[in-house]
Amino acid sequence: MSEKRKITIAYGDGVGPEIMQATLDILFAAEAQIETEVIEIGEKVFRKGITTGIAPESWEIIKKNKVFLKAPITTPQGGGFKSLNVATRTTLGLFANVRPCRSFFPYVPTNHPLTDLVIIRENEEDLYSGIEHQQTQEVVQSLKLISRPGSEKIIRYAFEYAKVYGRNKVTCMSKDNIMKQTDGLFHKIFDEVAREYPQIEHDHMIIDIGSAIIADRPHQLDVVVTENLYGDIISDIAAQVTGSVGLGGSANIGEEFAMFEAIHGSAPDIAGLDIANPSGLISAACMMLVHINQQKVAETIKNAWLKTIEDGIHTSDIYNKDSLRKVWTQEFAKEVILRLGQKPVRLRPVEYKEGDTMSGIKVSKYEKAVKELVGVDVFIDWDEEGRDPEVLGKALKKLSGNGLSFSILTNRGVKVYPEGHPETFCSDHWRARFVAEKEGDSVQHNQIIDLLGRFQAAGYDFIKTENLYTFDGAKGYSLAQGE
Ligand code: NAD
Repeated sequence: MSEKRKITIAYGDGVGPEIMQATLDILFAAEAQIETEVIEIGEKVFRKGITTGIAPESWEIIKKNKVFLKAPITTPQGGGFKSLNVATRTTLGLFANVRPCRSFFPYVPTNHPLTDLVIIRENEEDLYSGIEHQQTQEVVQSLKLISRPGSEKIIRYAFEYAKVYGRNKVTCMSKDNIMKQTDGLFHKIFDEVAREYPQIEHDHMIIDIGSAIIADRPHQLDVVVTENLYGDIISDIAAQVTGSVGLGGSANIGEEFAMFEAIHGSAPDIAGLDIANPSGLISAACMMLVHINQQKVAETIKNAWLKTIEDGIHTSDIYNKDSLRKVWTQEFAKEVILRLGQKPVRLRPVEYKEGDTMSGIKVSKYEKAVKELVGVDVFIDWDEEGRDPEVLGKALKKLSGNGLSFSILTNRGVKVYPEGHPETFCSDHWRARFVAEKEGDSVQHNQIIDLLGRFQAAGYDFIKTENLYTFDGAKGYSLAQGE
């Protein structure tokens, strides 16, 4: 046997210690070639006043061992505590969140017996960067950031995953009909990368209909790749349609590090009762074994687990009229151990081949486009004159000059001057667009600084600006609704 692989483990909070014990018993009984190094995270650490829930020395252990099997933790409400999951993902560059969702019908009741899909969610970007600002009395904003390399990495990962795991189709979900810049970029990169994998089918769905398909006809989907927020939502829907969120595991994968966990939380309501279902963490542990190249052990455990479920040996959360026996958490683990070496008869057994999902992850070099400044959007806080757009629009028009001319005024993205609709509701948050006086001319930064000087002199509270650029002549900004 190969040398033992050292992994970091954390027992977590609530049911964490119980399900981790059950999982480790199975891993060792199956002779997984691992050695564990335990760190403390969660409640006990929060109580010491460490707002991240993890001590600096534990980070060192995680970084040294590179692979982390984590039980759920309880995140205290409020009080400046940070999400440990978000911190782990971003600190370790775990860009891919992988969540397989498979039904185990008829042993676990579900309306969707044929579900067998994998959600691959981008983990580091999008609205989760948490860059938020209140800009006026009425309006707050959250910045959605999508990058070319970030999108390419996750999309390539999805195709590599499909290749290694023998899946046939990758579906991209986005909302590029509305967010033409951010989601437009994600979709465009998806189409580019898909061309490199002619053996794998690909398609794109708008996220709203895509979510509906997951809820109603999940068997039509195979691998789904999407941005962070959409992925967060649809991965829970997908897990739910399999019949139980208690069964799912997930992997957070980066170029150097990886973290594996159950998808459920610490379930404080049933902590200490030995009734929690350890299957989510067992499933995550199998993903970990595949990741560290111990595919055969993963296969043995997963097939024994499937046989246990098929034999009707169920924890109370999935116990039903057709179950044979209701078992405690640790008893369930013993039943899985008894079946090591067996395969399910009615459920499809798993087979994991050797393969590396990361070997195809590279970020392409791209030709830098010619970037040209062509205008500026100046956002202002204005709550005067009954918020009449005609009044504001006419006043702002007079601020044109020095090569920059006023073009439109919008409120929450909708054009309100010139030629707005009086019915449009206006908040106190306005955007005035100024563009080069002569179309095709480029704009200099000092023209924008001059313009802001004129805003200041006229007494306007400008809350931010966004420069308008073209890239090789293509507009790098959206038009206003109605523009
Ligand atoms: P939860 O997933 O802990 O529990 C939701 C419901 O599902 C509860 O009724 C619980 O008893 C049940 N349940 C969960 N896991 C189960 C299992 N293995 N077996 C049987 N039943 C199970 O979600 P919650 O109650 O919203 O969150 C509790 C705590 O967990 C919160 O502090 C939350 O922040 C945290 N949380 C942590 C993680 C994580 O560490 N990855 C993820 C989600 C939530």
